[in-house]
Amino acid sequence: MNETEELLAKLVGFDTTSSRSNRGLIDFIRDYLNGFGVKSEIITSDDGTKACLWATIASDSQKPGIVLSGHTDVVPVEGQNWTSDPFTLTERDGKLYGRGSCDMKAFIACVLSLVPELVKQKLRQPVHLAFTHDEETDMSGAARLADFMRAKSLKPEWVWIGEPTMLNIIDSHKGVALFTTDITGVPGHSGQPDKGINAIELGVEFMNVLLRMADAKKAKPYEGSRFDPPYTTFNLGIIKGGTAENIIAEHCRIEWQARAHPGDDLDPTISQIDIEAQTKLKSRFAAFAPRAGIKTCTCFDIPPLMPTANNPGQKILSKLTQRKETQAVSFATEAGFFQKLGTHVVVCGPGSIDQAHKADEFVEKSQLSACVDLIRQVLLSSGAC
Ligand SMILES: [Zn+2]
Repeated sequence: MNETEELLAKLVGFDTTSSRSNRGLIDFIRDYLNGFGVKSEIITSDDGTKACLWATIASDSQKPGIVLSGHTDVVPVEGQNWTSDPFTLTERDGKLYGRGSCDMKAFIACVLSLVPELVKQKLRQPVHLAFTHDEETDMSGAARLADFMRAKSLKPEWVWIGEPTMLNIIDSHKGVALFTTDITGVPGHSGQPDKGINAIELGVEFMNVLLRMADAKKAKPYEGSRFDPPYTTFNLGIIKGGTAENIIAEHCRIEWQARAHPGDDLDPTISQIDIEAQTKLKSRFAAFAPRAGIKTCTCFDIPPLMPTANNPGQKILSKLTQRKETQAVSFATEAGFFQKLGTHVVVCGPGSIDQAHKADEFVEKSQLSACVDLIRQVLLSSGAC
């Protein structure tokens, strides 16, 4: 195994399934960087079990620099039929198998293997490393890292996220946001429906408001969109409510999702849904206030990624990979969190999303070496080195 592959084997060896702590892996990276004189900042979650890492090579430079970023968590292996131990990187036929081998410890291994070279170069602008947690769940790591960057007024020139794209260049994806709407009614005997207020009935009214909004979005598709369908969509995922068929239901919870088309700001849409629902249900609640009510909470909100004009990352990667066309993808990444800071972002990394999240996830060795070469060339030709 070469250096990149050995680093990948070490990273895969940490079981960083999102439900578990990633601190062991973060400490490993911190110690590795420390060995080359690169200091890290560790940004921990509120309970301390998870952490993001931020490190800068050539931190004395005042220039904004480039960020190389990846998530350290992986999806679970439970219920999957693996040929070999998912947390032991195993080579077969030019492929390296293991959980996270492509999504996305591969890119992190490529970046880390270049650190010894980078620290020897006289860098004219900083190279920042940013590694996150919980990308596979609620992207709370990226949100925390973005807050850290905002607090420190860090606004890099562009961010390179190495999600598996077979080194194709991605500059657009939809957002994903998850909401819960809780409706509280007033229970009573089912034979006297007017003596209470049925939360499930009100839930139906709320869902109708949501479906009308979905129709409104569908009626105004984005012209020239690269997405199918070319508009923001909603999904009613889970509905829970009631305790018995002869009791007026006191509670109803609706869990729903919105996938925002790039360019469609979700905040005013959600406010509109809320206002319409509140207005519609107000008279029903009136007699039972303040017991009855409706409340929508945002569980998470992953912003979409929009193409930006004159994106330096996209320009250099297009030139070096000779792939003029950028792509829009159906999966969400952490890119939108960085873009909200006002920086350009490109998603481009080794391995294929087709292998991600499955049993026998793998990355081709040739993809790893091609990615190392690409990062090296980008840092050289962008004048970073
Ligand atoms: Zn990923």
